[in-house]
Amino acid sequence: MRRALLLWAVLVCGACSSLAASAASGLPGPAFPRYESAAGLEAACGRHLATVKAAIGKLERRAGGPGWLAAYDDLNALGEDLASPVFLLSNVHPDPALRAASEACELRWQDLFSTLGQNEKLYRAARATRPRDDIDRELLKTTLESFEDSGVSLSPEPRARAKAIVDRITELDQAFNKNIRNETTRLAFSEAELKGVPESVWKSAARDDQGRVLLGLDYPSSVPVLQSAENPATRERMWRAKNNEGGPANLKLLAEIGQLRREYAQLFGFSSYADFTLRRRMAETTANAKRFLEEVRVAVTAREGRELDELREAKARDTGVALAQTKLERWDVSYYTERVKRERYSVDQEQFRAYFPAQESLALVMRVIEKVMGVRYTRVPNVALWHPDAQAYVATDVKTGKALATLYVDAYPRDGKYNHAAVWPIRSGSTRLQRAPQAALVVNFDRKGLSLDEMETLLHEFGHAVHNNLSATRHSSSSSVLRDFVEAPSQMLEEWVYDPRVLALMSEVCPACRRVPDELLAKARIAERYGKGTQYARQRLFASFDLALHDADAPEPMALWSRMESQTLLGHVPGSIFPASFTHVAGGYAAGYYGYLWSEVVAADLRTAFGSDKLDARVGRRYRDVVLANGSQWPPQVLVQRFLGRPTNSEAFFKDLQR
Ligand SMILES: [Zn+2]
Repeated sequence: MRRALLLWAVLVCGACSSLAASAASGLPGPAFPRYESAAGLEAACGRHLATVKAAIGKLERRAGGPGWLAAYDDLNALGEDLASPVFLLSNVHPDPALRAASEACELRWQDLFSTLGQNEKLYRAARATRPRDDIDRELLKTTLESFEDSGVSLSPEPRARAKAIVDRITELDQAFNKNIRNETTRLAFSEAELKGVPESVWKSAARDDQGRVLLGLDYPSSVPVLQSAENPATRERMWRAKNNEGGPANLKLLAEIGQLRREYAQLFGFSSYADFTLRRRMAETTANAKRFLEEVRVAVTAREGRELDELREAKARDTGVALAQTKLERWDVSYYTERVKRERYSVDQEQFRAYFPAQESLALVMRVIEKVMGVRYTRVPNVALWHPDAQAYVATDVKTGKALATLYVDAYPRDGKYNHAAVWPIRSGSTRLQRAPQAALVVNFDRKGLSLDEMETLLHEFGHAVHNNLSATRHSSSSSVLRDFVEAPSQMLEEWVYDPRVLALMSEVCPACRRVPDELLAKARIAERYGKGTQYARQRLFASFDLALHDADAPEPMALWSRMESQTLLGHVPGSIFPASFTHVAGGYAAGYYGYLWSEVVAADLRTAFGSDKLDARVGRRYRDVVLANGSQWPPQVLVQRFLGRPTNSEAFFKDLQR
């Protein structure tokens, strides 16, 4: 996953002192800002907003024409540098007061961005500017579209309403996320109730006054419980708690968000938000996205049915209840999937933790990136960041030795921290500004080691990290890419985890680490395919729900979800309110969740270029130069075609689905 980034970036000079500090630290670009208190952040927020407002005023006095686009990009760079750290801090800072101050600051930035989006002087200047080549033409085109989609051409009343709506949605999305982040649910289990769950998951957890183990809903606790608790009541409690995250309050927020998005689209003459937004995406129309999801549904339904039958049989064998009387519950799926994998393929996710110590695994993935893409990550010690766990790395070009970018890594869970996996782009690169990119990779791993699935997640997130770090676009504003393409480079890398030559690189970064036996990995590769029908069917459901939520009728989210989920093979569990924790839909993926599946088509196609050699440095370099370096300077279809030497197609994806 990854957060969207608003267009923003500089030559800051609220940051001149930090520029110097950072040069001393060995990281390219300005140092990450340090705030000692909420009041300090609030004061800096005010100063930064004033700096950007002054820069906007200056740009307003400049006529369109030669040089205007670069000046506009300078403004974006300035805004990005000053705003984006705050968007990260609200998700990772350990101090709740500082997180709250960050959120308050985000709203002030949102107000500035939405006002800027409707700036008529800048819009007129953009329209009067002629591009000097194709790269400028593409940026100018997306810049004009972005002004228009913000409402600059609307008459005064709907224009004011458009701004009010986007500002309100930001506020609602913030509240939605906060309800999940600040979730304090702890489930109490006796040791007997946790039978089957690895001791490492609960042994050192807090206990209540009756000596019961207290577990939260974070991944390192919830996933092992759902995958391995032998007691069905234990799994059910965890599943229900997980599917109530966010609570009824979030359903209300989501309903309001859906209504507001429809109203927003209507201001522009569109009947649905999906139609309004998809015309700017790779998919081009809602009909195309729906057609694609239907193709996926047809391709996976039979497989899903077979898999669920097998799980039900496994449950019947396990419980000794006759098959005809055995019902497979939602909280049985992970458990029996893992069990069948163990029985049939002798593969257990937990057994991989011994091979993948957390810090060494990070080094391994960095070494893979180095071999394939020619960029080396080196830890820079003693960089003061938002938390002692956060680490700083410099990315250096292996051939030239040039420092290219900075990557921050925040790897372990803690209270109040964003609890999924994501990369926050902090700074977009620009060759014109000689601006080094910066990003932050945030995950929540078990300190004792990673499962193979978590290794895959780490590779996925590195796909986003290098997309930022290896960007070499002319303008900083050309660095962020389309929502239905953004996952492709990450999904492409997921497969790397099953290649023994890739994992063998562990010996280079950790000679003492034991190597995953080839035979075990080969079995894991086969086992990984097991359950794909169920997984894709679920992804298809999420994507279809998201599109339906943003359809012309903007339906009530919970009623819609319960209707759609009821039509699935496992049905809907009354009392579960999954949409309350569907952060993607509340946030930037609005009518864009289909992009995960859509990007997979592109990812599978990209992968074909590597053939059987996932460490092929020649292909990797071409991939870096053609796809990653170009950001959105060219439309994604163009980049993929240049890399593959042919237009992209869905053959590899659908072939893979049948595997
Ligand atoms: Zn992702």
